[in-house]
Order: sequence, then structure tokens, then C-alpha cells
Amino acid sequence: MKDIASLYSWINQTDLKRPIVIAGPCSAETSEQVMDSAIQLKSHGIQIFRAGIWKPRTRPNSFEGVGEEGLGWLQEVKQKTGMMTTTEVANAKHAELALASGVDILWLGARTTVNPFAVQEIADALKGKDVPVMVKNPMNPDLDLWIGALERLYNVGITKLVAVHRGFSAYHKTKYRNEPQWQIPIELRRRIPNLPIFCDPSHICGTRKYLSEVSQISMDLNYNGLIIESHPNPQEAWSDAEQQLTPKDLSEMLNSLVIRKAKVSNKNLMDTLSELRTMIDLCDNQLLDLIEKRMAFVEQIGQHKKKHNIAVLQNKRWSQILQRIIRKGKAKGLSKEFISTVFKAIHIESINHQTKIMNVETGHALSLLPKKRTLTKGK
Ligand code: PEP
Ligand code: MN
Repeated sequence: MKDIASLYSWINQTDLKRPIVIAGPCSAETSEQVMDSAIQLKSHGIQIFRAGIWKPRTRPNSFEGVGEEGLGWLQEVKQKTGMMTTTEVANAKHAELALASGVDILWLGARTTVNPFAVQEIADALKGKDVPVMVKNPMNPDLDLWIGALERLYNVGITKLVAVHRGFSAYHKTKYRNEPQWQIPIELRRRIPNLPIFCDPSHICGTRKYLSEVSQISMDLNYNGLIIESHPNPQEAWSDAEQQLTPKDLSEMLNSLVIRKAKVSNKNLMDTLSELRTMIDLCDNQLLDLIEKRMAFVEQIGQHKKKHNIAVLQNKRWSQILQRIIRKGKAKGLSKEFISTVFKAIHIESINHQTKIMNVETGHALSLLPKKRTLTKGK
């Protein structure tokens, strides 16, 4: 996707020190609510207005959007405030209607990105149209599916593309509505460095409480912009009431963000940074060497177990290791979750090595670690 357009070729923002911000209600509810939100947001310097018209809801019998009628309200916003407008399209008909009524930017929601049929249908409807499209990450943490949706649009000639990170759903309850899994957008940036990435803290958080924290992380990771839900009266919102901010609170939150420089120009700063980075590289090498060493012992044990016909997995020993290591890690300021993720991975790799040794004649190796991992796989 070499020819992805620069954001600034289609978004008119002169203050490059600020992130690009798209804001507006989760859903367009009434013409008054839409206009009121837009006027207030505009007065706080927001240039791009969002509002969902066709709303994908998890359960039936919830508010599913005002539909086509809302397109007229977006047109009015454009005429009265001069803001650019954006809305979600989930099928070819939505895309055609939105384009016909002058919506400036389209977005594909998380529930659409998961479905290659729907994405292709929208892409076909947009063929030859020079419209910017934002593609939210799919609900599930599948980087290829996200990239695939972007590629389908790129292949019909859409070059004004943006990826929107809105988090990934999980069955278990976490502090977030959708887990950020920051490593996935980081890998997306590594694979497609010229693709602008926006963060959608509203749908990651699901609550106002963490919006500022998540927005700040995205700025620290050099995201190009934010898309945030804002409603004149959040508690009364017809959808996503818990996560919306009033335009005034949004503006305060945005003003409190620390925007760091994306590139380092000062030589001394650069030198310090590269020294520290070298130290990190050295530590990573040492970590790898140590893991290699650990694995050599594990293999020796494997030989021993094989000789004496002892089972690979010794549960008691493993829970002792984990408990001890979590205790030690905590004393070093490392969280229990981090330590247990890392050591569980090391343990599974160790079992894989031992199983291979024990079954060398039969070639049976039980692989507990998935071979295909989204994050390590090349294109
Ligand atoms: C939205 O932006 O209102 C929305 C429905 O988003 P998502 O597709 O990220 O759930
Ligand atoms: Mn929403």
C-alpha cells in the first residue's frame, strides 16, 4: 500500500502540534442534538464531526440509529459550521447514500471489518470515488483481517485511508470495554509505516474514567489522531451513554494531553536516546541468551526423564516455580499478570522442547504454543 495519501493532503489542519480530532455523538438522535453537538464542538476548535446513523447494536430492541434521515442533519452541520462530517457505513447501500449526501469521510465499524464479504461489497461501491475511509480494527485481535480490509479498499483505488484502533473484545471482564492490545497497532505501524492511525479511546474504555489515560498512551505512541464520542448531555445519550464526554469536558481532556515530538531533532537528545536504546538491545540479547541457557537445562532434564520414564509435566513443581517467581517479580515492581504471562510462555516452550526429546523416535511432538502467531509472522 505504497500510495496511501498523507493525512494533511485531505484534512485541513495547520497546527501540526495537535493531534487531529474527530468528535461527535455515538449516534445522531435528533436534528437538534446533532446541531447542538456540532456547534459546541466547533466552538472548542473541533473540525471534523462524527455521528452514527446506522448503529450496529449487540442486542435487538436497542436503538439502531435514525437511518437515512440523519444524512440530512449531517448536511446541515456541514453547511452551518463548515466542519467535515463522517459516519459509519456497513453495506454498499449505506456507502452510496452517504456519498450522495456529501458525507466527507466514511468509516467501517469493527463489526464490518470482520466480514470480508461486507468489506468487499463496500469497496466495490466505492470504486473510482476519491473518498477517505477509516477502517476500525475487527472485533477479534486479527491483524491480517484488519490489513485485509484496508487492502480491499486500496485495491479499488481508495488511497485516503486511516486505521482506527478501538480495542478488541474479550469474553472475560477487564477494566476496559475492549482491550487495547497495543502491540497490534504497533505491529500494524511496523508493517505499513505510511498508514495513519487514529485511536478511538471511547470504544476502548467504555467509560469516561479512562479516556484521558488511553488518549495519552496513543499520543505517546505517535498516533495521528483521535476519534472520540461527545454528546451535549451524555447521561441521556441513546447509545454508549457511559463513555461520552460533553464538548467542554472533551476540550479540557484534549488540552491536558501532552503531545511529544514524533521525531528527535536535537543532537544531544538523539545521542541519549540512542544510548538508552542500545542498552535495551543489550538487555534483550542477554534475555535471549539466558532463555537459551535455561532451555539447555530443560533439555537435559528431558533426557533424564526419558531415561527413567518420568512424565514431562510435573504440576507441583510448576506451581512452586510460578509462585516463587511472582513473589520475586512483585518485589522488583513487576505485575503479577506480566510475570505469569512471560513465565507461562517459557514453561510451555520448555514442555514443547521436552516432549520433542521424549518422542524423538515417533516424531510426535505436542505443540502447546500456536505456530502461527499474528505478531511474529511476516507478510
Ligand atoms: C461507533 O463508533 O459508534 C461504533 C459503533 O464503533 P465500533 O465499530 O468501534 O464498535
Ligand atoms: Mn459508540
